Amino acid sequence: MASISIIKEKCVGCRRCIGTCPFGAIELKDKKAVIGPKCTLCGSCVESCKFGAIEFIRDESIKHDLSAYEGIWVFAEQRYGKLKPVALELLGKAEELAAELNTHVTAVILGSDIGSLPKELVAYGADEVMIMDAPWLKDFNDHIYGEAMLDLVKKYKPEIVLIGATSNGRSLAPHISSALRTGLTADCTILEIDKEERLLLQTRPAFGGNLMATIVCPNNRPQMATVRPKVFKQKEPDFERKGRITFMDVPSPVEGFVKKIRDIDNDDGLNLADADIIVSVGRGIGSQKNIHLAQELADALGGALGSSRPVVDSGWMPYSQQVGQTGKTVAPKIYIACGISGAIQHLAGLADIETIVAINNDPDAPIFKVANYKIVGDVKEILPMLTEKIKEAK
Ligand SMILES: Cc1cc2nc3c(=O)[nH]c(=O)nc-3n(C[C@H](O)[C@H](O)[C@H](O)COP(=O)(O)OP(=O)(O)OC[C@H]3O[C@@H](n4cnc5c(N)ncnc54)[C@H](O)[C@@H]3O)c2cc1C
Ligand code: SF4
Ligand code: SF4
Repeated sequence: MASISIIKEKCVGCRRCIGTCPFGAIELKDKKAVIGPKCTLCGSCVESCKFGAIEFIRDESIKHDLSAYEGIWVFAEQRYGKLKPVALELLGKAEELAAELNTHVTAVILGSDIGSLPKELVAYGADEVMIMDAPWLKDFNDHIYGEAMLDLVKKYKPEIVLIGATSNGRSLAPHISSALRTGLTADCTILEIDKEERLLLQTRPAFGGNLMATIVCPNNRPQMATVRPKVFKQKEPDFERKGRITFMDVPSPVEGFVKKIRDIDNDDGLNLADADIIVSVGRGIGSQKNIHLAQELADALGGALGSSRPVVDSGWMPYSQQVGQTGKTVAPKIYIACGISGAIQHLAGLADIETIVAINNDPDAPIFKVANYKIVGDVKEILPMLTEKIKEAK
């Protein structure tokens, strides 16, 4: 375990370190810095002290042989024999990262009767596809899938594992990382390579989206990251591409902790992720009974309905429809923000959108700074007018 302490004799009480601690863990007592229990041992304050008064001892005792790890793996999540788009998005990114590291990309797919999927994975960037095919892998179960993945990771030692931040991916990834005592960065928005150190630079919003943090995992392998759907673009598939397809031994079935009671096919709010047009509702809609106004516009446009977080927190819409930092990342062609102020945490969920239309009764609402079309007025009056016009035009 690493440790941190103040060398009292060296501390002059200049307070410099206090402002650098993101966790508010340092205070001044009797003109000397004191580190309190909020300290997470992040190490950020060390450089700030010009007097060498902060002593930070990293734990060098656990050194792993990192050279044994090679290759980038993508967990190729599928459901009902159909790949999740995020798996294909990750393969494209993995190919770029692999070129930097001069290594290969492996897609790992678990399921039952998964037929032509391996070919698709090769077309989208996998050099190799490892398949575990068994009847008891038909449905996702984090314990069973987690144990099967662990088996493979321990045996073949990838240096990087990328997993889509779907609801299944979010429970699978920590199952693996905690068992291997390695690092996992959730919801990365940028993935890059430090070639010299062979490190995956995992960037994600931090501190409520107010800054971007780049996280590395220098001492353990594999380096693990989850990425939300639509953050990266799929590359153009090349169905002439050749790759190795290997059927792996399947470990005998283990009892899962989770028992499936019924299947509900609204996993990950696919409508939102796939929609070309999203009509999204914010607190400005006033109440749940007005949401039908946005739904009618979405229906007229053949789009999906999204929302900001307060709408979900109020119970007006399900979490699966929330857009933003703690909701979904979406990339429609047209995004219509109805009574949404445009907080940074909401905008964090808008990736690569061609046209943003904003309706807001406050002409100074921040959403107008990112909107291509700005409508100032009461959303409850404007939505029916827009729906009417769209229907007429049709
Ligand atoms: C860690 C963290 C994570 C978060 N994650 C998310 C997230 O994933 N997604 C998300 O959305 N938010 C998220 N938030 C919350 C975010 O900070 C904002 O509070 C939220 O986005 C505001 O939602 P809103 O725009 O609907 O509401 P408000 O900010 O209250 O804005 C309502 C808007 O409607 C307008 N309005 C009011 N009445 C009308 C009317 N009659 N006609 C037209 N316009 C009207 C107002 O002018 C205002 O601009 C997060 C916050 C934190 C701290
Ligand atoms: S920056 Fe260094 S000298 Fe200044 S208060 Fe902090 S520990 Fe003491
Ligand atoms: S190590 Fe990090 S958390 Fe601890 S006092 Fe320094 S800056 Fe704060």
